[in-house]
Amino acid sequence: MRNPNIVILGAGYGGIMTAVKLQKSLGANDANVTLVNKHSYHYQTTWLHENAAGTLHHDRTRIQIKDVINTSKVNFVQDTVTDIKPEVKKVLLEGGELSYDYLVIGLGFEAATFGISGLKENAFTINSINSARMIRQHIEYNFAKYNNEAEKKQERLNIVVGGAGFTGIEFVGELANRIPELCKEYDIPREKVRIINVEAAPTALPGFDPELVEYAMNSLEARGVEFKIGAMIKEVTENKLVFEKDEQREEIETNTVVWAAGVRGNSLVEKAGFEANRGRIPVGEDLRPEGYDDVFIVGDCALIMNEETDRPYPPTAQIAIQQAEQTAANLTRLIRGEDHLEPFEPDLKGTVASLGHNDAIGVVFDDKKLFGWSATAMKKIIDNRYLLKLGGVPLVLKKGKLNFFH
Ligand code: FAD
Ligand code: NAD
Repeated sequence: MRNPNIVILGAGYGGIMTAVKLQKSLGANDANVTLVNKHSYHYQTTWLHENAAGTLHHDRTRIQIKDVINTSKVNFVQDTVTDIKPEVKKVLLEGGELSYDYLVIGLGFEAATFGISGLKENAFTINSINSARMIRQHIEYNFAKYNNEAEKKQERLNIVVGGAGFTGIEFVGELANRIPELCKEYDIPREKVRIINVEAAPTALPGFDPELVEYAMNSLEARGVEFKIGAMIKEVTENKLVFEKDEQREEIETNTVVWAAGVRGNSLVEKAGFEANRGRIPVGEDLRPEGYDDVFIVGDCALIMNEETDRPYPPTAQIAIQQAEQTAANLTRLIRGEDHLEPFEPDLKGTVASLGHNDAIGVVFDDKKLFGWSATAMKKIIDNRYLLKLGGVPLVLKKGKLNFFH
């Protein structure tokens, strides 16, 4: 009898952790495990805002897949998935196709643009190494261009960030650190540059602890970030952003809009025919969509409900990693012929968000609030713990954030 084929799509938090766990729990003769990813590297999405602002080089964020995968146990295919065909148990790639007995989908998120006019064409999003690198270079290009034109254009120096959720807030925190450096480098007075964060809800970080939200806004405003709260973005063009606040239409002239105002699951998964809810696929407690016993979905493509609040759990790396560990354990059971799968129960440790390199906010262990240095240190501990799980001490030493005083 041939070995079953396990195919894992995407090497984000969910996909790569499933592969790393399977290479430990399965023997080479138990199954053929194949990991498919667009790039030769895994990246830590949770650091991309730093790469986009230019406060951290993207090579710190990416990890070569062959450095953490044992290629004698897991076959790595660098290719782009174009279609998933669950009815014939096949995955189509740009360069070929794969058949599976078990499929793990971990293709991550894409921006939700809510049909806003001009957004797709004119705004940047923070969702990959390539997109982060483009934002960094675009900002620098505009700073360089500013002093090379006879007519000084303010739109080159206005940076607008759409959404004050965690991504938007973390990104403006990095910009607040980076912009003074860029001003020095390009001979631009700091007061000429505007960093504007536009949020539709009545508060930044809606739903988060109000005391910490106030702390975050004070910290960011003190470093030159402007907030437009209760302001709904309506349109983006090449050189302006339009929003509505108190039923008034307002415009900001800008060449740089970074959209951080919502995510959805990768559209390939919806296209495959699974029933979807805003691009995320509802899965049962074994992380399989109803009617598909051979498909597991992990990370941002999966929708799981919090029974206590009757709302979906937010898509986070924390949950993606735990789902991967659970899925690898359940796949191992299936391969060994057991039919009882363990249910997935998220074990939420808290939320910590950076506000630049030396400030942060967080709530951990249910209700312990952190801010300032202790929150910054906690964020580094969380990041290093992930690297330890993924590649042991050598990976922490190579890519970790080990300087707790900067
Ligand atoms: P991803 O990490 O998005 O990975 C998907 C992978 O699939 C990528 O490697 C991609 O290249 C690959 N892929 C996509 N399409 C294809 C294709 N067609 N073919 C082949 N490969 C493909 N969460 C937290 O818990 N804590 C945080 O501090 C935190 N900070 C964040 C900061 C930022 C700036 C952002 C944007 C998000 C943050 N999140 C955080 C959320 C977290 O990053 C996501 O929930 C997490 O990345 C989801 O993991 P994933 O494995 O589902 O997908
Ligand atoms: P989000 O959906 O959490 O926040 C988007 C924000 O944009 C919301 O506040 C929303 O009100 C606002 N918005 C939506 N439409 C708008 C419009 N037209 N105009 C102005 N504002 C608008 O998205 P996110 O911040 O990208 O986070 C995505 C996921 O990643 C979440 O689950 C989040 O918890 C997670 N994340 C976690 C961290 C962390 O833990 N440090 C950091 C980043 C992201």
